[in-house]
Amino acid sequence: MSVRAGIVVTGTEVLTGRISDQNGPWLSEQLLALGVDVAHITICGDRPADLAAQLRFLAEQGVDLIVTSGGLGPTADDLTVATVAEFCGRELRLDPELEEHIADIIRRWRPDIDEGPTRVGIRKQAMVPAGAASLPPTGTAPGVVIPAVGGPTPIPTVVILPGPPGELQAMWPSAIAAPAVAEVLARADDLQQATLRAYGLHEAQLAETLRLAETRVPEFDRLEITTCLRRGELDMVTRFASTDAGVYRQLLDVLTEHHGRQIFSTDGSTIEDQLVEALGGRLIATAESCTGGLVAARLTDRPGSSEYVMGGVVSYSNAAKADLIDVPAEMIAEHGAVSEQVAAAMAEGARRRLKTDVAVSTTGIAGPGGGTEAKPVGTVCFGVAIAGRPTHTVTRRFPGDRERVRALTTTAALHLVVQQLRRADSEN
Ligand code: ATP
Ligand code: MG
Repeated sequence: MSVRAGIVVTGTEVLTGRISDQNGPWLSEQLLALGVDVAHITICGDRPADLAAQLRFLAEQGVDLIVTSGGLGPTADDLTVATVAEFCGRELRLDPELEEHIADIIRRWRPDIDEGPTRVGIRKQAMVPAGAASLPPTGTAPGVVIPAVGGPTPIPTVVILPGPPGELQAMWPSAIAAPAVAEVLARADDLQQATLRAYGLHEAQLAETLRLAETRVPEFDRLEITTCLRRGELDMVTRFASTDAGVYRQLLDVLTEHHGRQIFSTDGSTIEDQLVEALGGRLIATAESCTGGLVAARLTDRPGSSEYVMGGVVSYSNAAKADLIDVPAEMIAEHGAVSEQVAAAMAEGARRRLKTDVAVSTTGIAGPGGGTEAKPVGTVCFGVAIAGRPTHTVTRRFPGDRERVRALTTTAALHLVVQQLRRADSEN
């Protein structure tokens, strides 16, 4: 029997698109990892009637668990607890101990809390539905777990979490440890999830190989496979019961037999992870034109990247290429800024200026303007300079609009560095 959940994301700012939802996808991923099937993610604004309608809808779908995010603040428009309590038919009661706990937290940065409005807000946040468990605040607002009720119109277990993603994520461990939630999770399937990543592989090619695998791998249909194309990489995520791990291994054999060159990760590692490993303690720098710093941004996304990223130069104009990383002006005049000669000079200049072992460069035409017949929009030249080796250059042509070309260029740059580092190591 599989356990199903629904997620309700609240907040007018999310509904209107002013901020994009981080909580729905995060919660979904956590629940999937726990073997729970997420049936729906719904989004509503701050109107209680809309939230109530979504709770009714999910309960009618027969989900075992509902998780809400947002609307736990002290202000009058934060109405999630009151609305869920009403939906579950439970009265709100003041928890005086919780009220003092919240007051202690707020007193740290606002000593004047005993004045009217703040006290009212704290008291509001300390109201707990009868029979519910409160989860310790990770910001100022406590979370709430309301146990399921059976009967002719059953009400699922509801977990109420705060909106700020950091607070929600910090509260998650105590939410899943709450007895009413643990009891639901105990009924969930023992599922595993495995991720395979490929670069340079088309969805259609993968689909064809999957059709072949269907005939070759016994019990193939016990695997739940989803594929997704992201920033030029193809991710395949497979869920399966732990007892079916052997079926997944057989699928992997078929896939590596056909796409061994394109599959770069079967253990969930990303190209960034592999780049760090391939660097093996060497230092790296970037010289970017058309990507405007996106390569450096991806390199420095990881905590601890200061150990190996020295820095990067956004040499967007010809003058910057000449002044900051010593690309000869005559070279730009002769070959154009988008040329392998300039890409090589950029990488070498960045490596010299930033005193690193490795440097990568990008120079291209992201569009929509600037293309020519010989160098249409999407043409990008790359350079990879590694100490003690001739600089490697390559020209690629990427499809799509400006955003897509820049994203594909960034991914390509990371793959190119890994490829060249491994080649250097195997030849040394
Ligand atoms: P607070 O006490 O801060 O009001 P809250 O639990 O009432 O917390 P909300 O008022 O819904 O939460 O959201 C507070 C802020 O948290 C939002 O303005 C937004 O910046 C962030 N936030 C809320 N929900 C999301 C979401 N789904 N995705 C990303 N950020 C969110
Ligand atoms: Mg709020």
